[in-house]
Amino acid sequence: MARVALVTGGTRGIGRAVAARLLQDGFKVAVLCRSGRWGEDEPAGLDAPVFACDVAAFDACAAAVAQVEAQLGPVEVLVNDAGVTADAALHKMSREQWRQVLSVDLDSMFNMCRQVVGGMRDRGFGRIINIASINGQKGQFGQTNYSAAKAGVVGFTKALALETARKGVTANAVAPGYIATRMLADVPKPVLDEIVQDIPVGRLGRPEDVARAVSFLAADDADFITGAVLAVNGGQYMVG
Ligand code: NDP
Repeated sequence: MARVALVTGGTRGIGRAVAARLLQDGFKVAVLCRSGRWGEDEPAGLDAPVFACDVAAFDACAAAVAQVEAQLGPVEVLVNDAGVTADAALHKMSREQWRQVLSVDLDSMFNMCRQVVGGMRDRGFGRIINIASINGQKGQFGQTNYSAAKAGVVGFTKALALETARKGVTANAVAPGYIATRMLADVPKPVLDEIVQDIPVGRLGRPEDVARAVSFLAADDADFITGAVLAVNGGQYMVG
């Protein structure tokens, strides 16, 4: 029986590439995003149902997971990919910018994992993969909110890994570097050129580069890998 994977933010960018890769790996995949629609600038949608849900809202996550499970079966792989940025230097950052990023990028970890972790523990199998960021590891000008949220994702993941290790459930984070998606659309070209100069591999990442790492961690035989943070950043930031 194919396992069921749920990918938040799976309608475009990195999440879409993850969903495509997991379909290729033989999973039944559901995707979830706020709008409930495939991204307009994406190729045709994938063979995966889309559910509308704001990952910042606990009750909406509970309802969406219940719908997914009614349609496809228990969620065995959860990829928490949905995320946003709202950049400003701290002395100019509004409370709304702070709250938006913390609630979408960090509260979502609780909101989504809380819905599935009990069932995973009971069934003795689960894979939780949380998308962090290079900027949660090294900090980034204008991103106190985002860097805090993504560093929080790493701490959350490690604590959860400890809690579930004896239950056949792994929890890992993937920390992408700069990946060419809509999230970088507002970054001016000269800044992007400078960023690329800092990437030893010499290019921006592709969503598929991140999907490769997620696929690796989602596998049944990745059961001895838990609490890890897998960097996918072209060598831009190396941590021991
Ligand atoms: P995109 O903006 O291309 O895609 C974001 C996805 O998340 C969309 O499907 C969007 O759908 C969904 N989403 C946004 N807000 C919500 C919400 N409140 N509830 C549910 N879904 C939501 O982003 P990327 O693919 O670039 O980023 C994906 C993840 O990777 C994020 O967590 C990001 O922080 C992380 N990352 C990205 C990097 C990059 O360089 N691109 C680098 C490091 C990390 P919709 O708008 O319809 O809701």
